Amino acid sequence: MDIKYTSTRDNSVSVPASAAIIKGISKDGGLFVPCSFPKLDKSFDELAKMNYREVAYEVMKLFFTDYSEEELKGCIERAYDTKFDTEEIAPLAEVDRTYYLELYHGATIAFKDMALSILPHLMTVAAKKNNVDKEIVILTATSGDTGKAALAGFADVPGTRIVVFYPKYGVSKVQEKQMVTQKGANVKVIGITGNFDDAQTGVKNIFGDDAFNAELEKKGFCFSSANSINIGRLIPQVAYYVFAYSRLVLEGRISAGDKINFTVPTGNFGNILAGYYAKKIGLPVNKLICASNDNKVLFDFFKTGIYDRNREFILTSSPSMDILISSNLERLIYFSAGADSNKNSELMKSLSATGKYEITSEMKNEMADFVGGFCTQDEVSATIHDIFEKTGYVIDTHTAVASGVYSKYVKETGDNTPNVIVSTASPFKFTRSVIEAIENEKSDKDDFELITRLSKVANISVPAAVSELESAPVLHDTVIDKEEMEKSIASFLGL
Ligand SMILES: *Cc1c(COP(=O)(O)O)cnc(C)c1O
Repeated sequence: MDIKYTSTRDNSVSVPASAAIIKGISKDGGLFVPCSFPKLDKSFDELAKMNYREVAYEVMKLFFTDYSEEELKGCIERAYDTKFDTEEIAPLAEVDRTYYLELYHGATIAFKDMALSILPHLMTVAAKKNNVDKEIVILTATSGDTGKAALAGFADVPGTRIVVFYPKYGVSKVQEKQMVTQKGANVKVIGITGNFDDAQTGVKNIFGDDAFNAELEKKGFCFSSANSINIGRLIPQVAYYVFAYSRLVLEGRISAGDKINFTVPTGNFGNILAGYYAKKIGLPVNKLICASNDNKVLFDFFKTGIYDRNREFILTSSPSMDILISSNLERLIYFSAGADSNKNSELMKSLSATGKYEITSEMKNEMADFVGGFCTQDEVSATIHDIFEKTGYVIDTHTAVASGVYSKYVKETGDNTPNVIVSTASPFKFTRSVIEAIENEKSDKDDFELITRLSKVANISVPAAVSELESAPVLHDTVIDKEEMEKSIASFLGL
């Protein structure tokens, strides 16, 4: 089945996957979505025998139908290799009667690596297929983890450049150090004096600025996005939901066809949406539990049907989820409105004009697969503490949001469907919050001392991605106002 992609804001758009991957976002400001959903054509018993790369191929071939088998397998081989510190790529740990799908074994020790290690390869193949002769400029806004994972993926990839904007005072020390030490002749890292939403809105505005884009084109450049709105990121994420399920089948924890739940720590709604896509292609998913931190816009939304970003932005111990506009939710809104781009556009207009919209009760019914939950920062610390005390397993603050939400969900509902908690970062990426939670006291030590301490206390070795950081030289120190984003890009590209 040949799958085309349309825009959530204009149903007359129809492009192949490779074109959608190059563009990142549709001209009308909408997101690319598949016009129809393919179905998995392998049984779960067959999938259970496959390794990560093979499962990834079975999933991606369904969506990226204009890539040849050779092209797609090539991308997968180059992405999921020894950059990951485990042969399994995405191991599943059983802890305290639930499962943790560890997606943090890649180059930057957060789950963004799962998609960003393959996106550059998908994109350079796509450029060849579409006869793009321009240099691709990746523009990225990051709440911390995307930035580094995108930099690592695109550094020195021929035919590409990458500019990353991050909130100067809104990321962890380790996250910042990871980014500002990035090597590569084609990379630029810029701090802005605003929050993640400012960075993301700024990037979206630049994509929509026709005059600026025309000028760029004249000089031989074109923009694309590595943000989670790119379907070249979304689709590779579908693979690990299928992989987790097939592991449970392989290990005899479930039988092929049994339903399971997933609990996902959520920010921009990309990860959990991939779980929804997995269900659409035939994965037996019962509930998708959407876990938020104190910025609980999504929890309120699933409860009331009203999305309202007009509220205080709270900096929490899970910074990669400090988001008030969850971009990928637009794709769910679109489907729940019956794939109606007019209806979706209306709501998105309302969001940008008033910061708010309300869905109909029919749309809400369409979203019955999702359950919202949230955890305060105290609950997050208590969760990290308790799991470590009880089992010796260490989780990061983002994973702890999901873990805490899952415990509350079970208490409230009694639902004992097998559950997978999607574990999104290594505890070493957020060491301060993790060790303080475990030891139940604040520390005035510096982050790198705490890393050594966590390694001792938890008896786990420090990942290479972190141990190399301390002595790495800072290569980027630009900090700007959010109004200066366009100007800073022009200067980097020498316009
Ligand atoms: C990005 C990120 C999230 C949120 O994922 P979304 O796809 O944006 O919902 C959660 N945890 C970590 C560690 C992240 O880096």
